[in-house]
Amino acid sequence: MRTVTAYGVPKAHGSFEKLSIERRDLGPKDVLIKIAFAGICHSDIHTVREEWGGISYPMVPGHEIAGIVEEVGSDVTNFAVGDRAGVGCMVDSCRECENCRAGEEQYCLKGNIGTYNGVGKDGQPTAGGYSTHIVVDEHFVLSIPEGISLDVAAPLLCAGITMYSPLKHWGAGPGKKVAIVGLGGLGHVGVKIAAAMGAEVSILSRSDDKRGDAAALGAAHFHATGDPSVLKSLRGTFDLIVNTVSGNLPIDTYLSLLRLDGVMANVGVAPEPFQVRFSSLAGNRRSLTGSAIGGIRETQEMLDFCAEHGLGADIELISSHQINEAYDRVVNSDVRYRFVIDAATF
Ligand code: NAP
Ligand code: ZN
Ligand code: ZN
Repeated sequence: MRTVTAYGVPKAHGSFEKLSIERRDLGPKDVLIKIAFAGICHSDIHTVREEWGGISYPMVPGHEIAGIVEEVGSDVTNFAVGDRAGVGCMVDSCRECENCRAGEEQYCLKGNIGTYNGVGKDGQPTAGGYSTHIVVDEHFVLSIPEGISLDVAAPLLCAGITMYSPLKHWGAGPGKKVAIVGLGGLGHVGVKIAAAMGAEVSILSRSDDKRGDAAALGAAHFHATGDPSVLKSLRGTFDLIVNTVSGNLPIDTYLSLLRLDGVMANVGVAPEPFQVRFSSLAGNRRSLTGSAIGGIRETQEMLDFCAEHGLGADIELISSHQINEAYDRVVNSDVRYRFVIDAATF
């Protein structure tokens, strides 16, 4: 075991503080990464604030990790010391079920092992990227292309793949009208990716506050949904809606914005289950679905796509002692558009 510095919450309702945690000794397939940057995802906040149920302490979140390989196990073939490496939301899975074999480890039938708040195959609790180092099996380590700097690459490891996967799966591309609901960490990366895929992208945001950023992100249209007449005017417009909102939305109203055979894919985690009217789905043969991150192969494809198109997240770089404040600011949508922690400050 090696002891490393981390930032985490030591007890329920606590604040972030500096902690020491243990990382396992390197197994033959393990990679030791010196973390350079860690993004703050809204899922970190849901988890730490126990909005998704009980957690174990100390809780060290962080699943948007970018860094440099510092050491490799004896059988590692894909990485060498000095390589640029990333880790997202998973650090392992059963690797045997049909979903794992299909490269969709996020849907592992036995449950993937989360980068934090999980239990590793060694029986130890997993701890995330708000730390100086992490040890991960090479199968779950991504290669960050030279074309993207590590700070703006970090958020791609969760926000990027969470948007890329449904956009690709449901055919965002030329001739397709795509709406992204919620212009936050996920949403702003989604707009960039959907535009790079060639889709005509609309941003649906609550107010006009972020309108000025729409064109720079690649959106063709921006709609402030606070005015109910705006949603009415958009009925029957979109082929695909990707909903990134972390609150509940009037789902029937949003479904009405879809064209024939349109799809609404939820990636934002609404706190309450939704009820849907039969006519909202059957009326235009619409689909309501959801999507969780993406598999390792697709995450690498996403990183390569982003490098090819010159895409990264728009970030506000913070130091470790600003994490508590940053959490409140994310909840208040007061970030343009992703906080990234500089691991040199751990
Ligand atoms: P974020 O940065 O806070 O962005 C969410 C955006 O949703 C906000 O910027 C805001 O956009 C809008 N919003 C927030 N509360 C709202 C409300 N009550 N009603 C309407 N709109 C609201 O969060 P994020 O990191 O992008 O994450 C978004 C959600 O996705 C979270 O629930 C997170 O847990 C989830 N997530 C899911 C996956 C997955 O695999 N499915 C992966 C990562 C994250 P406007 O200001 O533009 O309205
Ligand atoms: Zn996340
Ligand atoms: Zn599996």
